[in-house]
Amino acid sequence: MDRQALSEYLEKLLPPAAVEDYCPNGLQVEGRTEIRRIVSGVTASQPLIDAAAESGADALLVHHGLFWKGDSGRLTGYRRARVARLIHADINLYAFHLPLDIHPELGNNTQLGLRLGLERTGSLDRAGLLAVGDVPGAAGAGTTLGEFARQVARALGREPLVVGDPAQPLRRAAWCTGGGQRYIEDAWPRADVFITGEVSEQTVHVARECGIGLVCAGHHATERYGVQAVGEHLAREHGLEHRFVDIDNPA
Ligand SMILES: [Zn+2]
Repeated sequence: MDRQALSEYLEKLLPPAAVEDYCPNGLQVEGRTEIRRIVSGVTASQPLIDAAAESGADALLVHHGLFWKGDSGRLTGYRRARVARLIHADINLYAFHLPLDIHPELGNNTQLGLRLGLERTGSLDRAGLLAVGDVPGAAGAGTTLGEFARQVARALGREPLVVGDPAQPLRRAAWCTGGGQRYIEDAWPRADVFITGEVSEQTVHVARECGIGLVCAGHHATERYGVQAVGEHLAREHGLEHRFVDIDNPA
């Protein structure tokens, strides 16, 4: 597939203008013109770039790219090393941040919901960054916060940080992948439990004082699924070869 055609396809699928963001979405570093093999991963870290180069990838698709508002803009140290390897290996770097979070089917929020058995019914904000849905079993005997937390641990392969009474029954969940802790303010009182990746000191107080269950399951762990879904979509729709590379991150 031609680079220009892939760029246009991705920008149509994940429109950068759909949401105000603090990074450039789309092609961040230009590589070769013909793309057959894609590697996807959460963050354009050195080990991920190295893995892409070693597997002969023509494009690397990530959620967290290289350039963010407020950065110094200098290509020194680790930043230089990342860009140098990409350019040396002639790899195209595509990064989609918030446009990937909000995609109703392939996005991080919807894909995480599927892993956790949450039935997404909509969003609590206009952009779609705060997903809402029913907790499994809500219609029947119900699920408690403790049971749900165990389900999250099983689905993501790591113990989440949980705040609240394990016996609390849950009906509605609100969730935002990654560093979405501030959205707890909008989740309450419309949901009984709020799931996100990261936690701040104050998030715990808000959860306790509002009586909303809080499940912080890891920034990396909650954002592994959108980029994989997009990679699989490209493989299906355009016959590209796709492989997801997980560079473990405990944060
Ligand atoms: Zn993130």
